[in-house]
Amino acid sequence: MFRQGSRWYSILRLKCPRCQQGEFLESHPYTFSDLNRVKNHCPQCGLKYQLEPSFYYGSMYVSYAVGVALAVGIFVLTQLLAPGMSLLAVFGCIVGGLVLLMPWIGAVSKSIWAHIFMAYDPKVARMVQDKRAKNKA
Ligand SMILES: [Zn+2]
Repeated sequence: MFRQGSRWYSILRLKCPRCQQGEFLESHPYTFSDLNRVKNHCPQCGLKYQLEPSFYYGSMYVSYAVGVALAVGIFVLTQLLAPGMSLLAVFGCIVGGLVLLMPWIGAVSKSIWAHIFMAYDPKVARMVQDKRAKNKA
């Protein structure tokens, strides 16, 4: 859907904003022991993810926007799939969906926040690809 080089490619795959190949988080978003902990550096290109102390606090604003967008999406889905559903049931679906998606929303919000300040660099991406190809051979 989104090709390498586009911001959405690395945001949705939770990859490094610069090389789009290194992992962004310490573990999967649903691993509750390190809930959405961002790595210090990209393991592939070495980009520093923590630009300053408490850098990812700003991702809370992004998380609010992502949550509202998902709530609207769930509302539209309920209206399309079950048009006669009561307002209380629709509200329950929205709350349930947001609770289930909470770890993913937090991870994607941090990724979006990082992508606001860090850009994709095709030269670095190429260098990392070459390095990985050499290591495989
Ligand atoms: Zn990287």
